[in-house]
Amino acid sequence: MSILGKLNPWNPSIPYEILSLNISSKLSTNSHDIKESSKDFGKIIQEILPAAVLYPSCVNDIIDLIQFSHDLSVPFHVAAKGHGHSIRGQAMAKNGVIVEMSSLNNNINNNENCGVRVSWDSGLGFYADVGGEQLWIDVLRSTLEYGLAPVSWTDYLYLTVGGTLSNAGISGQTFRYGPQISNVHEMDVITGKGELVTCSKDMNSELFFGVLGGLGQFGIITRARIVLDKAPTRVKWVRMLYDDFSKFTKDQEHLISIHHNGLDYVEGTLMMEQSSLNNWRSSFFSPSNQTKIASSLSKNKIMYCLEIVKYYDDQNANTIDEELKKLVKGLKYLGGFMFKKDVSFVEFLNRVRSGELELQSKGKWDVPHPWLNLFVPKSSIMHFHAAVFVDIILRQNKTTGPILVYPTSRKRV
Ligand SMILES: Cc1cc2nc3c(=O)[nH]c(=O)nc-3n(C[C@H](O)[C@H](O)[C@H](O)COP(=O)(O)OP(=O)(O)OC[C@H]3O[C@@H](n4cnc5c(N)ncnc54)[C@H](O)[C@@H]3O)c2cc1C
Repeated sequence: MSILGKLNPWNPSIPYEILSLNISSKLSTNSHDIKESSKDFGKIIQEILPAAVLYPSCVNDIIDLIQFSHDLSVPFHVAAKGHGHSIRGQAMAKNGVIVEMSSLNNNINNNENCGVRVSWDSGLGFYADVGGEQLWIDVLRSTLEYGLAPVSWTDYLYLTVGGTLSNAGISGQTFRYGPQISNVHEMDVITGKGELVTCSKDMNSELFFGVLGGLGQFGIITRARIVLDKAPTRVKWVRMLYDDFSKFTKDQEHLISIHHNGLDYVEGTLMMEQSSLNNWRSSFFSPSNQTKIASSLSKNKIMYCLEIVKYYDDQNANTIDEELKKLVKGLKYLGGFMFKKDVSFVEFLNRVRSGELELQSKGKWDVPHPWLNLFVPKSSIMHFHAAVFVDIILRQNKTTGPILVYPTSRKRV
């Protein structure tokens, strides 16, 4: 990285006085840095360029930048960039400054930076104080050293804590624990005025609830106190196939309604002839099972895969199969179309990584990703299936990407 001592003279949005701040040596206007910081996973929006990029080594660097901007008669845009896995330029800042949050991680020995710190308290139980720049995979690795782990996840772990808490952070655990934003006790946030404020549901609660799911618009998260629980060591991972959407969705809803000794994860996907059975979300089916499924798909054209997981460890290793059997009893999947795996907890949580690395090695990860997330009410899901999945997606035969369908409960959000 090369840091120039001069801001783009064609960019009047940021006055030269910024160079008199202590952070001036951490600001870059180098065209390579500008371009790199303006990329995201979506690869759809590419022309929104900042005037400069800040590589902070401590939280105070970000405070200095925001205070400077706030004191101007016309403040410039400041956007925190986590791991840049947004899909539509959410972490970009036209003519402003992008804060590369990962740079805090390069300075982890700086006492001001939080990293990942595990603690216990009689009121909260176990929790981790985690820097907003931390990747969830690193949170997992650090907390597992204590036999603990966060309870709510995303499917993919190479995302930052600040990035997912600015959205929601949803996955197959959401029905049980709520999204990641429902599993935060407290945060430190740099507000738009450049003040570092600690907030929780009881302290500065407007800021707390504004920032959680606030799309990076209400402040920059520098620390989040995350709920932890005892980590299991292994998981039973099961996929069941359906040829009837109504049976599939009813079974999903039934499974998330079991509260006592229920499942730990419920998701589901659409399967069509043109979609790859072992996609980048995880390779699961053996070659012989793939042949069997492909033949059923060529008959049905569209099928539905219900995916469930039950965690276990040494304590219930002898009873886990029986527990699982009870849970799937009465489900209406196609006979002969239940597939099982037994893997470590980390292998399961980090299931998308190997697919990512494979696509990267083939140059297929770095392509546009027009993704869409929708919450559809239960009352409309059959209509949605007929109008979107069948009438558009199946009939027009246009997409080969994964389509996930799984239920959650509003009570947990
Ligand atoms: C392969 C893949 C799988 C995914 N799977 C899931 C999934 O299962 N569930 C799910 O919920 N999401 C999923 N996502 C979406 C992902 O959670 C969001 O795109 C998330 O914002 C990405 O985090 P990031 O660190 O890359 O953030 P960025 O893209 O860098 O930033 C996202 C937003 O957060 C803001 N931001 C970043 N850091 C901070 C901070 N410290 N403080 C305040 N605001 C900040 C940015 O300004 C921007 O508005 C997935 C994305 C990918 C690429």
